[in-house]
Amino acid sequence: MSETKSWKEYYDYMEQKTPLTIYYPICGGGEECITACPYGEKIWDVEPMKVSLFGFNQKVRLRPVMKNPELCKECYLCVEACPTGALRPKDKPANHPLLTLVYNTLKLPFKRRYNIKFVFRPEHVEKFRRNNGR
Ligand code: SF4
Repeated sequence: MSETKSWKEYYDYMEQKTPLTIYYPICGGGEECITACPYGEKIWDVEPMKVSLFGFNQKVRLRPVMKNPELCKECYLCVEACPTGALRPKDKPANHPLLTLVYNTLKLPFKRRYNIKFVFRPEHVEKFRRNNGR
């Protein structure tokens, strides 16, 4: 059985093969990006990877990865929907992940479409639980 890969390998894959990057240590795993994407599961999948929040308590978790990046239209709806700021256009990576996380968390109540209500939709709560092994 092959060993589960580190999030860094998926980060590198996303950076090299897709128009987006995901800094997995601040991705919550609620799949808001996949819900918001007009092509949803045609483009996205979730993969098991070793990941932790800022290096603490590393575990295998399911996180989004683009399986068919060639279908992406670069509309960035997924980026808008990402509650933590982990998902970004490739030319604007999260250079300061902690600040990105704090900024995006504070912004959440004031977002129109992809706000707290969107994040706490039952489907996202269920995905969060499943993807974080709860
Ligand atoms: S940029 Fe648009 S088409 Fe591409 S993955 Fe995100 S939501 Fe989907």
